[in-house]
Amino acid sequence: MVIMSKAKDVLNKFFGFDSFRGKQERIIERTVNENKHSLVLMPTGGGKSLCYQIPALMFDGGTIVISPLIALMQDQVDALKKKNIPAEFINSTVTPKQRKARLQKFVDGEVKLLYVTPERFRKPDFVKEIKKTKISLLAVDEAHCISEWGHDFRPDYSRIAEFREFMGNPLTIALTATATPDVQKDIIDKLGLTPDQIEVFHQGIQRPNLRLETVDIYDEKETLEAIYGMFEKYKGPGIIYFSLIKKLEYYSQIIGDKGYRHGVYHGKLEARRRKQTQRDFLSGKQDLILATNAFGMGIDKPDIRFVIHAEVPSSIESYYQEIGRAGRDGKDSTCLMMYNQQDLYTQMEFIKWANPNAEYYSQVFDILKTDKDAVAAMGADYIRERMSHRDRNDFRVETVLSMLDRYGVTEGTLEEGNFKLVGSLPHELEDDKRLAEKLLSDNKKLLSVVNYFKSVDCRRTYISDYFGFPGEKACQNCDVCGD
Ligand code: ADP
Ligand code: MG
Repeated sequence: MVIMSKAKDVLNKFFGFDSFRGKQERIIERTVNENKHSLVLMPTGGGKSLCYQIPALMFDGGTIVISPLIALMQDQVDALKKKNIPAEFINSTVTPKQRKARLQKFVDGEVKLLYVTPERFRKPDFVKEIKKTKISLLAVDEAHCISEWGHDFRPDYSRIAEFREFMGNPLTIALTATATPDVQKDIIDKLGLTPDQIEVFHQGIQRPNLRLETVDIYDEKETLEAIYGMFEKYKGPGIIYFSLIKKLEYYSQIIGDKGYRHGVYHGKLEARRRKQTQRDFLSGKQDLILATNAFGMGIDKPDIRFVIHAEVPSSIESYYQEIGRAGRDGKDSTCLMMYNQQDLYTQMEFIKWANPNAEYYSQVFDILKTDKDAVAAMGADYIRERMSHRDRNDFRVETVLSMLDRYGVTEGTLEEGNFKLVGSLPHELEDDKRLAEKLLSDNKKLLSVVNYFKSVDCRRTYISDYFGFPGEKACQNCDVCGD
């Protein structure tokens, strides 16, 4: 038990906390003491990071942290450095010289935690250096990205078993807030492990301070009534999520005219503006944000009092992740989902455009290959025209481009003018059966949201069952089982 008392010292010395939370202690014990793999399922804000950061500070060798988001790495590493924890990150925003220097420090053991995106493993130089040093732990953050059936699939994540092999199959800890039983199985498999080699720690859906509510909505008037009702009832910071930018802008106008100051955040805004909005929200300068799902990853703001979904979300996974941002300080917070049947058509359209068939993939790929100059000159518009889209909401071309990027078949972007085709069409995108399965799976996810709304049992129990933790007690704090 000497080791665990050391773990507590590290917790105290570097993080300034007195005790572990939930299953942190048991997970750390399994990692450092027993050297065994774990899959950690903990709600957002539950404290997953400590489960690998503390072992990283206790092991002789280095820890590699795989994380999907370039945008978050800098903040994460800065926060660690402030605590005197020797951490660095390497990604495409770092100059080659710095990359080399940071990698060298990691190889020399000066840097204990190295944050990278999985794409880094495509670079032979990186792999060569990594092989020179002892890797004591591999932490796979946001591990649901491994699975095609998860809600944020990253193809490079699905090659982690290969990367583990390069590194001599190190001790591994995978962490996520949202993984259904199918996704859990897939994560274990894609790590190159068998279920008997890895222990799954579920912490359940323990966010008792989040009150779950839904409301049936027919029109704009009712939407606004529900929103204003929330403003009156709940003082303090809040987020309103929309699926469509058009709708977000529409409501932003009305709510603004009514005198409610707010920030706006979506993917079509310039990066600089998005950053400013996020900063103002985090600092408390701005209390209300209207956003699409582009907003919120890594938002560690303790006092968000409400999260409203003004349109039906696409899955329970994304819903749970988004509402998880509320009430991190443990105080009462409310999560309201508005259900307008009309939104289901929006979501079904989304799903359709997000799932082109194999023929579509191969046609776009051929255009990219044969009409390079026209594509470079006119961008995605040229492709759309060639694919003769009549529906202006049809974003299949964007889907194809994004998937090709995720699979590493292309580099750069059309907007920046540095777009390049560097590989061939991956067999996964030529396989119609597989693509059809994905489409079906997305539709099932949406159906689960409908069932959540229609549930006559406790909403928290519904979510728990969905993520594979049956037997949770009714919460007495939702609009079904509470008052
Ligand atoms: P997750 O990755 O699970 O969403 P984080 O690891 O970012 O969550 O932790 C969320 C917050 O909880 C952080 O602000 C962290 O400092 C805090 N925290 C984690 N563990 C403890 C603990 N044992 N005691 C006190 N605070 C903790
Ligand atoms: Mg985290």
